Amino acid sequence: MLSIDSLIELLAQPQKIVITTHHKPDGDAMGSSLGLYNYLIQQGHHVTVITPTDYPAYFNWMPGNDGVIIYTEHPEKAATLISEAKIIFCLDFNALSRINEMGELVGKSAAYKVMIDHHLDPEDFDDYRYWNIGACATAQLVYSFIVEELKHKELVNKDVASCLYAGILTDSASFHLPNTTSAVHRITADLIDAGAVNWRIYDLVYNNSPENRLRFLGLCLSERLEVLYEFNTAIFHVTKQDLEKYDIQTGDTEGIVNYALSIAGIKLAAFIIERKDRVKLSLRSKGDIPANAICRKYFNGGGHFNAAGGHSEDSLENVINQFKQILPEYKKLLIK
Ligand code: 5GP
Ligand code: MN
Repeated sequence: MLSIDSLIELLAQPQKIVITTHHKPDGDAMGSSLGLYNYLIQQGHHVTVITPTDYPAYFNWMPGNDGVIIYTEHPEKAATLISEAKIIFCLDFNALSRINEMGELVGKSAAYKVMIDHHLDPEDFDDYRYWNIGACATAQLVYSFIVEELKHKELVNKDVASCLYAGILTDSASFHLPNTTSAVHRITADLIDAGAVNWRIYDLVYNNSPENRLRFLGLCLSERLEVLYEFNTAIFHVTKQDLEKYDIQTGDTEGIVNYALSIAGIKLAAFIIERKDRVKLSLRSKGDIPANAICRKYFNGGGHFNAAGGHSEDSLENVINQFKQILPEYKKLLIK
């Protein structure tokens, strides 16, 4: 393990640094990665953000986005950067399987691995860990890592602040999840003071979609939602054909699952999507329904207690049925 003093000493000299984050990066994955990137480049480090896959275009405005390397598009370049790195920051994930084939490269790299994360059950692949499941976003942790551990509040400039703000905004579901504490609001206030334009960032992330995305939402709400009141559960499902018809891109389905939780009494919501290669599930829950345990036990996944994901190699129809068959096991919690 690396101590904070040794890490600070390492960072006192310009280093080759890779920052990586999870498969299909979301706002927190990109915001925390590019926030940290914009901090590190101010000290002369050579820093590259490498994502395992592509990510939604509505994050392309983030400062530093132009230099991001998508592993699937440039595997050799990414592999070279990973093998030559002195430090690899692993943000918003804590299991190497979350970065697909990159997991093996990161695992065997001689670099020091620094994990900054807020998910349960971290794997032991890191040399330094800044981890707190109470944080609403990894971006929140990156902020306190820079300010409290590295004592560099003055380096939280507009670029750093804008990216971190976007991470907190998206992972707290616009500041409405229970982990949006007063401490989170104090941090976002600091980020606004440092130059993050909150209303503009909201617009860039949420009011920046093509027309088809809104029409697709209409399809989901009117024809792809099934409500099972006996289990206080709602299920969306979308087919491969739906995705093609509406030209749905990475990120376009983000957030739709939450609409199901707006129905009075609904405690568990699933969004089941027939992707090209496999069926992907997103679960969201309220209160004491363990979305992550369901994903872990039945769908090769995991995540947070109330927001988790997983996947299956089975057909869409079978996955929907399997999900329904699981519900009696959780009935006591669901109808409480
Ligand atoms: P989403 O439903 O938005 O894809 O994911 C919700 C949460 O669950 C995120 O925090 C994400 O990191 C986590 N998650 C999604 N898919 C998986 C998965 O396959 N494995 C694990 N361990 N976590 C996942
Ligand atoms: Mn996160």
